Amino acid sequence: MTDISRILQRAEELGIHLIARDGELIIKAEKGKVTPKALEVFRQHKSELVQELTPLCSTCLDSGIETATLDDDYEGSYYCMQHHPGSNQSKQHAVNSRIASQLAQVFPGGCSIHFDRPGYTIQDRAHEIAWEEAARRRAKRKQNQLW
Ligand SMILES: [Zn+2]
Repeated sequence: MTDISRILQRAEELGIHLIARDGELIIKAEKGKVTPKALEVFRQHKSELVQELTPLCSTCLDSGIETATLDDDYEGSYYCMQHHPGSNQSKQHAVNSRIASQLAQVFPGGCSIHFDRPGYTIQDRAHEIAWEEAARRRAKRKQNQLW
């Protein structure tokens, strides 16, 4: 058993409920339950506890991405904003996919469609391109140094 699971088990035994939200550790317990010693242990292991307690979207995990889930569950399962069946973004994603498949019928094999995150602008893309270009130059310089 790891330190973290031991801490979580002990907290449970003491009636202390630990929750992770937005990278912060929230301690829920009746007054007097959390001893200074317990608080000290929680503080010391805060980042590991937060990591352990943050639920991850299983749909994202299938693609190897660790995404924290939304606070509310959907029929007992938790999902990130994109995969939550009830979220607007999820609905929007479904609409986008439909549009994408319709476009693909109009341009058979002739175009590719790429979805950007909400709020993504042409300036963001320009920054990315500049950054990629700089990274390429850095890599090339490094290569030149080697020879
Ligand atoms: Zn997800």
